[in-house]
Amino acid sequence: MGREVGGILMELDEGNAVNYVMVLNIYAEAGEWGECERIRGLMRRRGLKKDGGRSWIEIKKEVHNFYGGDDSYPLMGRIREALVDVERRMREEVGYVSRTGFAMHDIEEESKEDNLRMHSERLAVGLALACEGSSLEIRDVIRVFKNLRVCVDCHEFMKGVSKVVGRVLVVRDACRFHRFEGGNRNIRWTTYSLVVRMLLRGNE
Ligand SMILES: [Zn+2]
Repeated sequence: MGREVGGILMELDEGNAVNYVMVLNIYAEAGEWGECERIRGLMRRRGLKKDGGRSWIEIKKEVHNFYGGDDSYPLMGRIREALVDVERRMREEVGYVSRTGFAMHDIEEESKEDNLRMHSERLAVGLALACEGSSLEIRDVIRVFKNLRVCVDCHEFMKGVSKVVGRVLVVRDACRFHRFEGGNRNIRWTTYSLVVRMLLRGNE
């Protein structure tokens, strides 16, 4: 039955890589590598690519988009400063260590950290931090959206930010809502991915 549901989802919207990636993630979590390979094969045959990472944040009714590794956003200098600064506080106050092992290998430590700092969800959080104290300051929850899943290091980063800055962050990625508060994280599945998970696992 799981196979059928996954199939139906992908047939419904055949050209949309998002559905394939979601089904792929669910199979990957269940350790069903055979199914993962089958779906990747389908994506290749249909010429679908996983999108690059994109995150966005709304500030005063304006949506700001960030792409992983892209430093063309106008306020990038201030964003990087805000990120470097909050990381320093996190190291000092909560012993944050970036898990660069999850990023790329074969590059110097510093540029690995730089690399992680360029993940799109961090850039979006960096913008929120850079706006603090200005007329664009976000006064309640900092909400970030991401098209893919949030990586392990970015989870740790968000936890640390919520602790040292004393703000609540909610990040909605491809499958879940992550709520970071006081250095802790709570997860809630999105309704859509919950339904898909239940259906895919319905025959277990
Ligand atoms: Zn990341």
